[in-house]
Amino acid sequence: MGIYHRTRRYYGLLFCPQCLRGDGNAPYFRTYWRLFVMYACTRCGVYLQDRCPGCARPVIFFRVELGRKSALADKPISCCFHCGLNLAHAPAKPAPPAVLANQAELERILYEGWNEQVFYPQFYFVVLHQIIKQLINARPASMALQQAIDTETGWNPTQEDASVRKKKMPIGLLPLQVRIGVIQQAQWLLTDWPYRFVQVTKRYKVTSTPFLYAMPDAPFWYHRVVIENLYVSNGK
Ligand SMILES: [Zn+2]
Ligand SMILES: [Zn+2]
Repeated sequence: MGIYHRTRRYYGLLFCPQCLRGDGNAPYFRTYWRLFVMYACTRCGVYLQDRCPGCARPVIFFRVELGRKSALADKPISCCFHCGLNLAHAPAKPAPPAVLANQAELERILYEGWNEQVFYPQFYFVVLHQIIKQLINARPASMALQQAIDTETGWNPTQEDASVRKKKMPIGLLPLQVRIGVIQQAQWLLTDWPYRFVQVTKRYKVTSTPFLYAMPDAPFWYHRVVIENLYVSNGK
């Protein structure tokens, strides 16, 4: 996932304040909050959060544990390692129904597989990850795809952070709002597979290059649609 707990510039571990609150005296961080495709809590209907609302530091809960011997000994694990604010009391940020529906669909895929064709969830997420990478990089070969999806979805990641698409940034280290947006863009492109994908890529003359870039083991169902429908250039 690219979480670097010790790197304060970046945000990684997410949490739902309402779930933490519901835990009462024994709050815990769900392991699925670490998955790169999780951005909302479908139980509580809110966005996950990646920083302390008090001091804006990322969530680094093991430091609270380390500090238990001393000053933070009596604090629950849900307290901010830096300022001590209890994240269980962070104000919730309600997520729109469309965002929650997208998140619920990703959860369904995690548990059940994508569809009859793609029974194993990991093959869907490998492709989702590949497309997301093309949406946030600075490579000229990705530009047509980026423009196509930005136009079709009416959103682009530079609206949230002007530095996106200017440098290489691992998905796990993207600002949360950028990550939420590009996950949904990639998810949108894969919806109604392969019809929307073929229609959009043809309309905007997107070549196969970004879709297969640095992806030697592309899943067959994906590779076949790309090769059969898109112009295959020799560009790298
Ligand atoms: Zn929750
Ligand atoms: Zn704090």
